[in-house]
Amino acid sequence: METAVKQSFDIAAIRAQFPVLNQEVNGYPLTYLDNAATTQKPMRVIEALTEYYTSYNSNIHRGIHTLAEKATHAFEVTRKEIQKFINAPESEEVIFTKGTSESLNLVAATYGRQNLKAGDEVIVTGLEHHSNIVPWQMVCEEKGAKLKVVPVSEKGEINLDDFKNLLSDKTKIVSVAYASNALGTVNPVKEIINLAHQAGAVVILDAAQALSHLNVDVQSLDCDFMASSFHKMYGPTGVGFLYGKRHLLEEMPPYQGGGEMIKEVTFEKTTYNEIPFKFEAGTPNIADIVATKEAIDFISELGKENIHTYENKLLAYGTEKLSQIDKLRLIGTADHKVGVLSFVLEGMHPFDVGMMLDAKGIAVRTGHHCTMPLMDRFGLEGTVRASLAVYNTKEELDVLAESLFKISSRIK
Ligand code: PMP
Repeated sequence: METAVKQSFDIAAIRAQFPVLNQEVNGYPLTYLDNAATTQKPMRVIEALTEYYTSYNSNIHRGIHTLAEKATHAFEVTRKEIQKFINAPESEEVIFTKGTSESLNLVAATYGRQNLKAGDEVIVTGLEHHSNIVPWQMVCEEKGAKLKVVPVSEKGEINLDDFKNLLSDKTKIVSVAYASNALGTVNPVKEIINLAHQAGAVVILDAAQALSHLNVDVQSLDCDFMASSFHKMYGPTGVGFLYGKRHLLEEMPPYQGGGEMIKEVTFEKTTYNEIPFKFEAGTPNIADIVATKEAIDFISELGKENIHTYENKLLAYGTEKLSQIDKLRLIGTADHKVGVLSFVLEGMHPFDVGMMLDAKGIAVRTGHHCTMPLMDRFGLEGTVRASLAVYNTKEELDVLAESLFKISSRIK
């Protein structure tokens, strides 16, 4: 198939949609390579926020006036967009949350609490973000269940045989990252899901680092739940979603109590609303969810496959460039990766490297990336992480490599 990055992929035109990229930082043009932490937002997202607040701000669902209906409609349009984007069978299976962390906490506190008992096991991988570790630890501790961890290889991959060895009839839940935020590794999620289902476990995918880079289809994957955050997909901060199969969501108890999640309340008994509202207590972040539609359209219009192909080329280029730097060690060299270049410079603290790069206008992340167990696995306190988005360019990777080359050549 001719995937040769649609050369209609005009990077200058894409960059022009992101005003924040067009600035100097510390006297240098900004080189923004911290996209795994959060992506920048295109003008259409910013404009949708402004339009919402300047023309139809209202509370949703229960209002009968015109503005409330308009706000409700826009809010529900985003739900349908997400449904299409991940190919969920029904829009009611998409629950809006604050983001990946809240989505994972929701599943742990409802499905986990309802279904785990003493002696049961939950499996995660050694690559997980703290948000996909701690909620499971909390519910395991409460229920007397055990957390099992699939080990990570030197390349930053997990081995399916290790996973198979951990699976048993005690396994009730498998919760894994689709892609690692710290190393970029893309896990073999399809195989993980098949194996877990054979063992009778449900599977939750932490897709925070997947949805802006890969073409994700919950029906072909057959995952039971999926969590993500819109701010890593060119959308606003503080909003995200949980996808869950209808029958699972219907059987789960509510997460939080309050307005919207009820059908009827008396002091004797409360009945709960249908999904998705059962899990959406209180006034949500309407404006940001409304504006998220523009972020999803931005990705869809460019084309997920085109984005994937382009970012892969950038990643290969960046990997090649950084590999040429003496005293630089790439951490995470998996065969399948999203655009993350994690590395350390011999004898230098990642924080110092990050500060030196910042002095040249280069924004990277340093530290443990909320993956302390993974850093321990590599015997590191942290790494420097450059992470890519569709608006990044080869020239920016040249700027990064050149600065790193200079820094490394000063190491004795
Ligand atoms: N999981 C992964 C893989 C992530 O990269 C992140 C964000 N760094 C999270 C979970 C948590 O996302 P949020 O902070 O948006 O809840």
